[in-house]
Amino acid sequence: TSIGPINTSARSYETHPLTWRLREDGEAIWLDEYQQKKGYEAARKALTSLSKDDVVQQVKDSGLKGRGGAGFPTGVKWGLMPKDETLNIRYLLCNADEMEPNTWKDRLLMEQEPHLLIEGMIIAAYALKAYRGYIFLRGEYVDAATNLNKAIEEAKQAGLLGKNIFGSGFDFELFVHTGAGRYICGEETALINSLEGRRANPRSKPPFPATVGAWGKPSCVNNVETLCNVPAIIERGVEWYKSLAKEGSEDMGTKLMGFSGKVNNPGIWEVPLGITAKELLEDYAGGMRDGYKLKAWQPGGAGTGFLLPEHLTAQMYSGGIAKVGTRMGTGLAMAVDDTIDMVSLLHNMEIFFARESCGWCAPCRDGLPWTVKILAALKKKQGEADDVKLLDELARQIGPGLSFCAHAPGASEPLATAIKYFRSEFDAGIAVQQLPIL
Ligand code: NAD
Repeated sequence: TSIGPINTSARSYETHPLTWRLREDGEAIWLDEYQQKKGYEAARKALTSLSKDDVVQQVKDSGLKGRGGAGFPTGVKWGLMPKDETLNIRYLLCNADEMEPNTWKDRLLMEQEPHLLIEGMIIAAYALKAYRGYIFLRGEYVDAATNLNKAIEEAKQAGLLGKNIFGSGFDFELFVHTGAGRYICGEETALINSLEGRRANPRSKPPFPATVGAWGKPSCVNNVETLCNVPAIIERGVEWYKSLAKEGSEDMGTKLMGFSGKVNNPGIWEVPLGITAKELLEDYAGGMRDGYKLKAWQPGGAGTGFLLPEHLTAQMYSGGIAKVGTRMGTGLAMAVDDTIDMVSLLHNMEIFFARESCGWCAPCRDGLPWTVKILAALKKKQGEADDVKLLDELARQIGPGLSFCAHAPGASEPLATAIKYFRSEFDAGIAVQQLPIL
């Protein structure tokens, strides 16, 4: 596959539950090798010796939080699915529509370790009493689709999917559904609409998918990396899982994190939740390249706010990053160096967000192109006197709670924080006023 080895440091099941099996050559791990490395032992344990409620309780107790960017507690989400077993049509949906700029952690897992996701989904489906699952996969992830389909076929042949898995009486069918390449399809209710063959607009929440999901039935939508955490929690236990995080972190376990930009060693690594951003930048990414100075950074994707070098002391977990003023998002950080002009960077980003708006609500549909227009003028040094003030206000008016889903707030956060910290760069885009000729 196109992604190379994840890192060169020693990895073990003890410390790297998501990536310890990965090969240094970056090739996918197929069923034989996966099973030689403890694969499907957790699924066997769950289906043959734990009750469905026990599995939900263990995931709750582990403190696992969603790894797609929002960080909602997974066990709580699972607990919202209806308890009544007679409501027997319900779905487990894996959100694999990974399209956040700068984020490719789920791609790595799906391309190189597809059976880990399948195992996580078998356990989750068992716990949720879902007899059918879909992996909604970003369409451009062609290698991931090939590898997942091959792994699903292997699992079916081995009796790990289909009827009466491990003789437990539990049946589970799993399908890969490829999306058509829109960022909004990763919003869980837009994903459901797209899966059903409808236009990918978000639906209003509530009702949450646990109540009314795919084809009107209870559905649970979990991110790829989230589901990949489940086997180790079941196999090794809650206390071990909690002990993986760094002291001070309120989020448990490990997380795939990365750093890109002009750093010496851009990449992705499995790290304990709660390491500082400074450790991520210096110890893993090797610091800034010679000749480049860190000017700002984003902790987890284009939809998270900009932070300054002084914020690198923040711990990388949702509450740790919230303390310095933004969200951790996907944990795939980006370094902005001192050669980059913030207006040009924001212009580029807002073009992306405006293009990817589904057009469903006015603040997003009309507000985002407006930001692009103003940023384009500022970039050409043709801004009008009040443009920066207007841009700042616009960022607030498309912010949290004022639009239908998290898309416009995601676009507003980098904009508002860039203006907050680098106002002078925006002001420099205002055209020099010509004095009237008297
Ligand atoms: P959200 O906070 O609205 O919801 C997160 C999850 O929690 C959802 O599954 C939702 O149903 C559930 N939830 C929230 N409140 C609930 C409640 N009261 N009852 C039951 N369930 C509840 O966030 P979101 O809109 O799903 O996601 C936004 C995030 O997505 C952003 O933080 C961004 O970082 C991330 N994102 C990731 C990618 C990617 O490629 N990984 C792309 C775009 C955005």
